Amino acid sequence: MAQPVQEAPTVLIVEDERRIADILRMSLCRAGFAAEVAVAGGEAVALMRACRPALVILDVMLPQMDGFAVAEAMRAHSDVPILMLTAKGAEEDKLRGFEVGADDYLTKPFSMAELLARVRALLRRRPLAPAGEAVPVLRAGDIEIEPQSRAARKAGQPVDLSLREFDLLLYLMSRPGQLISRERLLTDVWGYEYFGDSARTVDVTVWRLRNKIEDNPREPVYILSRRGVGYFFRPQE
Ligand code: CA
Repeated sequence: MAQPVQEAPTVLIVEDERRIADILRMSLCRAGFAAEVAVAGGEAVALMRACRPALVILDVMLPQMDGFAVAEAMRAHSDVPILMLTAKGAEEDKLRGFEVGADDYLTKPFSMAELLARVRALLRRRPLAPAGEAVPVLRAGDIEIEPQSRAARKAGQPVDLSLREFDLLLYLMSRPGQLISRERLLTDVWGYEYFGDSARTVDVTVWRLRNKIEDNPREPVYILSRRGVGYFFRPQE
């Protein structure tokens, strides 16, 4: 496996269908990325360690170890952004993908333009504060987050949040009481324009976040919603 000569971010493609893997690899290389292909889950996990990708594109349908198992194995030791590819209409696959730590998903067949837009958005992590500059810790009730170290705690216990979950919580928590539309959350937190069912991405991420930080996710007290409009963090007392 050759290392890229330049500092082009490496994308690891995990897809057993050679034709799709080749198209992805060529498109990513043309767009300025380095790309590695794994055709099976075990190989993908091994390549993760070897090529330290900036992002993983992971197909759900793989022989032996499926995409969910691969995502779980990767999440055990990495917070690399994971974009999952799911079959058309398989809603439960998307939910399960988020559960095992995927940051985004795309339904097959997808347009290469949309795939590249999502890859770029996932890689566009907001820069952390410069070293040495104190970033205030945000607190509300028993929730506490440290923007600099990207740590979150509930009642003093660490909460394991994905990249997007943390970004979403930080965004909402920094604006208590402000109702934010899903479209604006997509633009500001995910970094992409509204596409078809992408509002669902926001809902699912909120759902996962509530499961991690609310005492009762069905009766949230931190992340509140106005049906059909958007979300807001509970207003300051
Ligand atoms: Ca496949």
